[in-house]
Amino acid sequence: MDPTPLPLIHELSTPGRRGVLPPSAPEEERRAARESLPEHLRRREPAALPEVSELEAVRHFTRLSQRNYSIDGQFYPLGSCTMKYNPRLNEKIAAMPAFQGLHPRQEEADIQGILRVYHDLQEALKPVLGLEEVTLAPAAGAQGEFTGMSIIKAYHEDHGTGRDEVLVPDAAHGTNPATAVLAGFKVREVKSGQDGRIDLDSLRENLNGKTAGIMLTNPNTCGLFEKDIVEVARLVHEAGGLLYYDGANLNAIAGRARPGDMGFDVVHINLHKTFSTPHGGGGPGAGPVAVSARLTPYLPAPHVIRSDGGRYSFLTPEKTIGKLLGFHGNAGVILRAMAYTLSQGGEGLRSVADHATLNANYVLSRLPEVFERPFGDLCKHEAIVTVRKAQKEKGIKAFDVAKRLLDLGFHAPTIYFPLLVPECFLIEPTETESKETLDRFLAAMEQIAREMDEDPESLRSAPVSLPTGRLDEASAARELNVCCRI
Ligand SMILES: *Cc1c(COP(=O)(O)O)cnc(C)c1O
Repeated sequence: MDPTPLPLIHELSTPGRRGVLPPSAPEEERRAARESLPEHLRRREPAALPEVSELEAVRHFTRLSQRNYSIDGQFYPLGSCTMKYNPRLNEKIAAMPAFQGLHPRQEEADIQGILRVYHDLQEALKPVLGLEEVTLAPAAGAQGEFTGMSIIKAYHEDHGTGRDEVLVPDAAHGTNPATAVLAGFKVREVKSGQDGRIDLDSLRENLNGKTAGIMLTNPNTCGLFEKDIVEVARLVHEAGGLLYYDGANLNAIAGRARPGDMGFDVVHINLHKTFSTPHGGGGPGAGPVAVSARLTPYLPAPHVIRSDGGRYSFLTPEKTIGKLLGFHGNAGVILRAMAYTLSQGGEGLRSVADHATLNANYVLSRLPEVFERPFGDLCKHEAIVTVRKAQKEKGIKAFDVAKRLLDLGFHAPTIYFPLLVPECFLIEPTETESKETLDRFLAAMEQIAREMDEDPESLRSAPVSLPTGRLDEASAARELNVCCRI
């Protein structure tokens, strides 16, 4: 990447220069428009807009876009995020004028097509998750969690159980305990064992008459399958609790294992992860939630149903937890996921999970020795390794390795998550990467392993090839200054 800073578009500005000059409206129209605004909202001076030609604007934004790191340009092994390739076909379908021109306030009779897409995707997800009903309303994984935990809350209130504690493993994604608290529960932490899986003794110790449920992901955030999951489900159900499944890691098992069969009562999945929608930079997303039969009355409103006569309509479930958004779900993401589901089919989804797992294990098996494997030789769709020894012996941190990877042309994997393993990397290559790409990444990791001995300074001072060098992370987060220099 060219490290020279680009000028701001304001610095390219020349007074009077224009791209397109629309004809000016007559003075009385302009006055009428101005006066239609309340006095205090009217501009006193013209806005300080950059004045550039169309070509300058095009070049400026094209250059800027090339400074972005994206899945379309490079390998993006960010653990827990499933940065897979998003097929162009999905984009084409989501951009079809018949979908794009829809308005959420249109009558049901006029939007039968998109309602059918919602309904068909709900139906397609049921057999993948092994549960009774699916809602597409939540607009993110975290909102799916909130939906699911609010459903669990509503269920316990409805049954007068007085249960208000939720168990969360120490390796959980930060959104899990945050969600439990937001939904009105108290959180109890369950410990992981030496093998990176939930410790059954710790689980037993934390279960009691107040237990409303447990939040788990499987495979868990260490990239490991919870092999005792059926026993976990038995213990939690026996104690009167419900099981919530954080489906962010579905890519590892879709088509091979189903959360419903493991004993989960509520599941969210991230369409933007497993079902391929671009999601770098935080959105938009969709976090469908699936529930078992006893929880269907609590689903959010509105819910899309199909009548016997084949008409699609919105329904308000009997004991609904209410609305999550102004309208219904993120249609653009749902369309992409429908296109992806139809193009993959059941067989395709299974092969996604198989290859995601194969790729992660290939990387794990070929990483240089300094990247230690805390939990053995096999993983699911993401691999966890740690440089805790190098940190102790040579003072090289996971952070330094991550920064050096940027110099070598790769997005860094997730680092320092899960918190359970010090100095760790969580590497998720996904199924869409070729062996050649994985080999190039491994070559970079080998180079870094050599540099730890031969040139540790190149790690400590990295990155040197990017427009911005190493920031003081604390000030960068706390003293944010995003002003341009005008
Ligand atoms: C991504 C992720 C979430 C949150 O999902 P968003 O769609 O980003 O809100 C929750 N849990 C895990 C394990 C995740 O990886």
